[in-house]
Amino acid sequence: MGTTGRDRQFRLVKRIGLIDALAMSPNPLRWQLHWQILLSLTLAVLCALLLLPNSGDGFPVIFLEFCGQVGQLFMSALKMVIVPLVAASIIAGVMQLGADKGAGRMGGKTLLYYTLSGTCAVIIGLIVVNLIGPGRIDPEAAAAMLGQGGATAAEQGILDKVEGRDSRDLVGILLRLFPDNIFAAATSNGSLLGIITFSLLFGLCIGQLPPALRTAQENFWESTQQVMLQLTSWIIRFAPIGVFGLVTPVLYNAPIGQLFGAILAFFFTVVLALALHTFVVLALALKGLGRVPAMAHYKAMAPVLLTAFSTSSSSATLPLTMDTVEKRAGVSAKTCAFTLPLGATVNMDGTALYECVVVLFIAQLYAATGQPPLEISQQLAVVFLALTTSIGVAGIPAASLVAIAIILPAVGLPIEALGVVWVADRILDMCRTAVNVFSDTVGAVVIARSEGEVLYKGNKEAA
Ligand code: ASP
Repeated sequence: MGTTGRDRQFRLVKRIGLIDALAMSPNPLRWQLHWQILLSLTLAVLCALLLLPNSGDGFPVIFLEFCGQVGQLFMSALKMVIVPLVAASIIAGVMQLGADKGAGRMGGKTLLYYTLSGTCAVIIGLIVVNLIGPGRIDPEAAAAMLGQGGATAAEQGILDKVEGRDSRDLVGILLRLFPDNIFAAATSNGSLLGIITFSLLFGLCIGQLPPALRTAQENFWESTQQVMLQLTSWIIRFAPIGVFGLVTPVLYNAPIGQLFGAILAFFFTVVLALALHTFVVLALALKGLGRVPAMAHYKAMAPVLLTAFSTSSSSATLPLTMDTVEKRAGVSAKTCAFTLPLGATVNMDGTALYECVVVLFIAQLYAATGQPPLEISQQLAVVFLALTTSIGVAGIPAASLVAIAIILPAVGLPIEALGVVWVADRILDMCRTAVNVFSDTVGAVVIARSEGEVLYKGNKEAA
């Protein structure tokens, strides 16, 4: 930053205070956001795996407590903007569509993309888990894992999460489209769907108003959307600090030492399948359907991927996703508003893939102990259930465990076996959430292209 720039910033600091100036300064480190987040992730790894285990007794507890608070603050700030940002963006985007009757067309294309990408993801999961066979181990080892994991790890908390849940939680998605109380829906964590429906209808109705009334509504919602985007971009500036706070305790507490044998093979099966989906299927979609260079898109979406990875929450990442897809990929605000909130709620490629791999892994373990393996028809049932339940999974950490707890008994496996994957779940949640969100961004690009939008043009940030 030149002298003039520094002077200007100094005057700013004096006038509005340090925090505001930091938030408003163009870039305190002069690095692109994804480099800042990568640096903070590296520091988190160093801290959690090297520094803290070798520091004095009391220090890690206090430090991790502090990190937890910082991470929580960042998550809360992101969540704070979700409802107003989503509502204002959808209403502002759809009121224009309402006028030119494009909503149905765009909705149809969006749902088609979600169905196709989700189906590809689950099929990749099915093929990879069958080829690698992480659960095909010797009978004693399998029995020990099922006995041990089923009892102890389940007690640790997995069953707490799925207790009292049944298929109505996920399959009741149609009911959740129309919440009986819009304010209750806005305040309940993870139920964005009702807000999306309400905002879509609200925006469509504005498109039907007589011109004088419509102008008033358009001005209001457009300016509200701008305010929310500005607020979001301020919060995003703090992502590197928030990510450090979120990731350090997770890595420090992750039972990495317990990742061996079949669990390690399972871990790599999931990671490989997620990577194939992200770097083959979604790259082909970007090139073939979106006609944008896949590398440019990975690079442009890096802050989104890293934040999704750190927060394990598609919903909490949504404000950043909307900001980044619009500013870096050049997708119009209208298309972002239409595709991304819906994507964060119903398009979960990574989750669907994960559900399929977990169920088949557990089935392989049971087969290793001498029980009948899953037949092809049962495996196809798993594919179908993984796809449909992933739609109903909320974009919050560990949400897919509930879906898996519904699929397991449907194919004759006990819910308690879910405890087997517990040690690997937290880190895999980070990975699958990044894939969930990345697929949403690819969807936005594909739909934007099909609507004739110009992408990645004159865009300095993505270059
Ligand atoms: N954490 C995931 C998400 O927010 C959902 C899950 O698979 O548990 O997208």
